[in-house]
Amino acid sequence: MQFQAPRGTHDVLPSESHRWQYLERTFAGLVELYGYREIRTPAFEDTELFVRSSGETSDIVSKQMYTFIDKGGRSVTLKPEGTAPSIRSYLEHHLGDANQINRLWYQTQIFRYERPQKGRYREAHQLGIELIGSPSPLADAEVIELTVRFYQTIGFEKPTVLLNSLGREQTRAQFRTAILKHAASWLKDQSEEDRARAERNPLRLLDSKSPEIQAMMQGSAQISDFLEDDSRDHFRALQNHLDGAGISYRVAPEIVRGLDYYTDTVFEVQSESLGAQSALCGGGRYDNLIEQLGGPPTASVGVALGIERALIALEADDEQNQTPLLEAYVVAAFEGARCDALQLARELRSDGISAQCDLDRLSLRAQVKQADKLQARFALIIGESELASRTVTVKRLADGHQISSSREDLPATLKALS
Ligand code: AMP
Repeated sequence: MQFQAPRGTHDVLPSESHRWQYLERTFAGLVELYGYREIRTPAFEDTELFVRSSGETSDIVSKQMYTFIDKGGRSVTLKPEGTAPSIRSYLEHHLGDANQINRLWYQTQIFRYERPQKGRYREAHQLGIELIGSPSPLADAEVIELTVRFYQTIGFEKPTVLLNSLGREQTRAQFRTAILKHAASWLKDQSEEDRARAERNPLRLLDSKSPEIQAMMQGSAQISDFLEDDSRDHFRALQNHLDGAGISYRVAPEIVRGLDYYTDTVFEVQSESLGAQSALCGGGRYDNLIEQLGGPPTASVGVALGIERALIALEADDEQNQTPLLEAYVVAAFEGARCDALQLARELRSDGISAQCDLDRLSLRAQVKQADKLQARFALIIGESELASRTVTVKRLADGHQISSSREDLPATLKALS
């Protein structure tokens, strides 16, 4: 029997992992410049944590969680998102006691029982940040700016932010009533289950992918009609900050996000090349979440970015793919040079240059072939005369260009030829 990765999951193969590492490194480097520190949380949590935070009516809780009873009889769930576990940890370890503002970042797998398609998996990977402890629109702007800078750094020319404000409880209640009124005659003809779902969370009718629902929602009230003054001021100030930072955005009333915990600001960055699963990332403000999880009222804002989706969207012009994985393959041209070849590989590595050499007593020709196969940038050949003169023949494999270099000058020679 031949095993396969479970449906909706995928392996990251050695030929692809450098693309992942590049995104992860770039993200970590960027967020640390803003003072974010990494937090790592377990792969599973108490089920109740996600029910409480995402909300009973969210897609995640109502149909996507990988929940099981462990051998001790506890209900646990593989984490479907990174925010609730980060906040659980923040509260458990009293991180808020030491600093009023905490900037956290994470890198995590998420598990959601979804129908797999391009850009949508049952196990996916996210990078994320949480800026905990500030109600200022400057905090929202920082999270959005950082997100945009990340996409620019990895090669998106003009990432556009879709921005909306969901207001607070009162706004949401009024808006729900307005939507249900607008949809009433359509809802009458729907199945009991669909009707019940829409009534539980009418906001989801707004971001439905169904053309029928989209057509039905045309002309419905907009949430901006109901925003309270504080929310309106916050939203306006955020837009001013984004203008000031030169970030392009579009106010998009259809962005409501699938999780119940958002307040005021929500945003996404989308990419056309992703097809139906067009969101590269999703984020927003969640001022009630920490209190909901048993902490003091603490205003916060965050974002989660999908790694797979960024990689799919970047596929077309992926510079990183062109970078050779190996700089130097050291070739021993005769038996007596084998020790020296090993030693040279060691020296190169301590100079920060990746290097390999033959382990299996291959012939000279087979070693050069191996260097080609590994897509090394250079074959470094040590023959009898090179050994005697402490030199190396450097062969650039892309075009066969060949020169001799002294051992001492080798790092500089390789640099000059790259
Ligand atoms: P969310 O936590 O739903 O706001 O998702 C944030 C981002 O994570 C999305 O914009 C996607 O890029 C990514 N993402 C979420 N769910 C999946 C999934 N099932 N498969 C792949 N990427 C996902």
